[in-house]
Order: sequence, then structure tokens, then C-alpha cells
Amino acid sequence: MDGKALAARIRSEVAGEVAELGHVGLATVLVGDDPASDVYITLKHRAALEAGIDARDLRLPAETSEEEVLALVAELNGDDEIDGILVQVPLPPHMDETRITYAVAPAKDVDGFHPVNAGNLYLGTPLHVPATPAGCLALLAEYGVDPAGKEAVVIGRSEIVGRPVAMLLLQAHATVTICHSRTADLAAEVRRADIVVAAVGVPGIVTPSMVKPGATVIDVGLTRTEEGIRGDVDHAVAEVAGLLTPMPGGTGPMTIALLLRSAVKAARYRRGDLAYPTF
Ligand code: NAP
Repeated sequence: MDGKALAARIRSEVAGEVAELGHVGLATVLVGDDPASDVYITLKHRAALEAGIDARDLRLPAETSEEEVLALVAELNGDDEIDGILVQVPLPPHMDETRITYAVAPAKDVDGFHPVNAGNLYLGTPLHVPATPAGCLALLAEYGVDPAGKEAVVIGRSEIVGRPVAMLLLQAHATVTICHSRTADLAAEVRRADIVVAAVGVPGIVTPSMVKPGATVIDVGLTRTEEGIRGDVDHAVAEVAGLLTPMPGGTGPMTIALLLRSAVKAARYRRGDLAYPTF
């Protein structure tokens, strides 16, 4: 499953929507100098600008206080030019990440991390959904894999990937199993799956013998090793799976594209042409 190609198409659709809307404002906030976060924010910012989004790349030094970050978020919440706000995680250890995530106005929370957005996803009425899970579902749709009635196994239960992707699969009528570090027999769970989403961060944890022949396998895990970037899915799974995302070139590019789509959604909501889910 070519995430790069689909992401390019979504990005060009987003550019068309931005042109139609006239203005979409996105503020990204990076605190500190974590090198991986720097790369992610730079890529997101560049992609936003390319799509015609008015993107503000706000960077604060690592020693910035939690109160200062909260004040910046409050300012962005009230800024009419800004439709979407993204605070890059992880934040420096002296900060309460939850407090800052909760401070972002739910309507502008393009990452979908705020409990109101997580709650709406849980209730089946999502507005902003975390970008990586949304990208997984977009890949399935692109390749004609309808989750309805299928066995889906998600490995990982984080708030940013595992849980939301499981909720989206459930909403798409899959029968969903969520595995994690305490799962007694991971191989047995995965072997039942028509759709596998691996979001662990353990290179090669999904091996060919664990995969049902013909299954659709989505690799979200991303680990930097001496041999380069490695996914959670062993390369040899390609010989067993019906469909498989490459790593890199699968879920990574989709994450950026879906974030941009989320910014357009936020702009549409703020203009009143998209109803915000009630709760
Ligand atoms: P995370 O918060 O560390 O969560 C990892 C999950 O994997 C946890 O739920 C953990 O279980 C589970 N796990 C750990 N070891 C396991 C094992 N041996 N068997 C089964 N489950 C196990 O990580 P995350 O933020 O969800 O990210 C997961 C991976 O995706 C990372 O490699 C990250 O870099 C990557 N990622 C990629 C993208 C992308 O765009 N492709 C985006 C986001 C993240 P417990 O809950 O029991 O600890």
C-alpha cells in the first residue's frame, strides 16, 4: 500500500480546498530541541505551506515554563486567524503534557488529543481524529479493504495510535481486538486477523508465521536503528500478506497528509459549514 502516493493526492486535494476557503491558519508549537520532533515539525510545516495553509512555526526554548506555553496556547485559542493548533509531543519533562493538551480548544485541536475529541471518537461522532489512525483508515479505503465484518487486530494501546485506530476500525464495523505488552499470546491473536495494525515500536515484532495468508497489514511502528528506519513488521511478511504498507513510505507520509486535512476540517467548522458533534 503506497502511502506516499495516496498522501500526495490528499495533499493536493487539501490545497484545492484551502484555495476555495481562501484562508486556513495552522499554528505548530515546538518546545525544546528534541531532534526527532524538530524533523516532524519541519515536515508538517513545509507540507502545510505547500498546501497554501497559513502556517506559523512557533518554537520555544526548552527552559520555557509551563505557564508560558499555556499562555501561548490561550492566545492561539483566541486568535481568529488560527483554525488549528498542534503542540508537538513529547514536551520537556518539567511540563505537564496532559495540562497543555487539555488547554487547546477542542475545535482547534487538529491532533485530536483533547479528551472532548477522544470522547467524540469513542461515541462514534468524531470531528478531529489523530492523524496516524485516520491515515490507516484512509489507506484501507484506498485499497478497497472494507473493515465491516472483518477481524481486526491492533497491536498497541497508546492514546495517539492504538486506541484511536481501534475505535475507527470498530466504527467501520470490524470486530476489533487490542493487544498490548500483557497480551498472553500475541501470535495467536494476530493469526486470526484479516487486518493487522502494528503500533508498538519493536522492530520486526510481527513475523510471517503470525500473519494469516492474504491479510492486510499496516505498519505504524517506526524505530531508528543503525541499519536505518525499521517498522514493527518483518520484511518477510510481504510474502504472506495480501496488502502491506512499506516502512518508510507507508503510514508516515499519510500522517502528515491527514493532519493537513484536519486543519481544513477545523477551518470549515469555524466557518460554520461543518457541524461540531454534540456530546
Ligand atoms: P507507545 O505509546 O510506546 O505504545 C506502544 C504500545 O505497544 C503500548 O500499548 C505497549 O503496551 C505496546 N507494546 C509494547 N511492547 C509490546 C509487545 N512486546 N507486545 C505487544 N504490545 C507491546 O507508542 P506509540 O506512540 O503508540 O507509537 C508506536 C510506534 O508507532 C512507535 O514506533 C512510534 O514511533 C510509531 N509512530 C509512527 C507514526 C507514523 O506516522 N508512522 C506515528 C506515531 C507513532 P502497553 O500499553 O502494555 O505498554
